[in-house]
Amino acid sequence: MTATAALVSVRAQIARACKDANRNSAEVTLVAVSKTFVAEAIEPVIEAGQRVFGENRVQEAKGKWPALMQKHPGIELHLIGPLQSNKAKEAVALFDAIHSVDRDSLCEALAKEIAAQKRAPLLFAQINTGAEPQKAGVLPEAADAFLKKCADVHGLKISGLMCIPPAEEAPGPHFALTAKIARRNGLKLLSMGMSADFADAILLGATHVRVGSAIFGGR
Ligand SMILES: *Cc1c(COP(=O)(O)O)cnc(C)c1O
Repeated sequence: MTATAALVSVRAQIARACKDANRNSAEVTLVAVSKTFVAEAIEPVIEAGQRVFGENRVQEAKGKWPALMQKHPGIELHLIGPLQSNKAKEAVALFDAIHSVDRDSLCEALAKEIAAQKRAPLLFAQINTGAEPQKAGVLPEAADAFLKKCADVHGLKISGLMCIPPAEEAPGPHFALTAKIARRNGLKLLSMGMSADFADAILLGATHVRVGSAIFGGR
């Protein structure tokens, strides 16, 4: 299947999941994850009408997106991978959304760059719902305090939460936990669900699904 045909199929699956969940499909943004794919592979997907894309590395995104964005107006670029504080400047300059806010030093660096560049990317705090040591994100039990600190200490507006459930577990409980933390903190956006589980995530309230291989193929 070509990426454009796969895009149509993923959009149809999102529409169906929204219908099953009694949700308006306008509430769910498809973030097409184009990491590892070159501009030539991405362009047909842009031409098919997709405008929101996700990348997990600042350097890689810097290498291919400025030219693509110049050529195709209206692209929205999301950083979905971990961010080092020393890359905050480049990230704020390039991305329209950052899904991986997870520690004080990064908050501090982002707040500084947002003020300096007068840009305000949409921010998601990443929650490490499986408490996996190798994974980025705030532990669930530390989330409320972290979110309060983002607002009170760093003056940072966090709009939603993001999670990546452990690969070997059923994702549902992780999505539900993330939604619960968002609800009690008054956050409206939920970045959750990837190629294998975006329909489940939509049923549990996802507003942003990050779908890579189901569109672009295996990496
Ligand atoms: C790669 C990646 C995705 C997309 O994964 P697929 O299984 O290919 O859909 C989603 N979220 C994050 C954080 C990723 O790094």
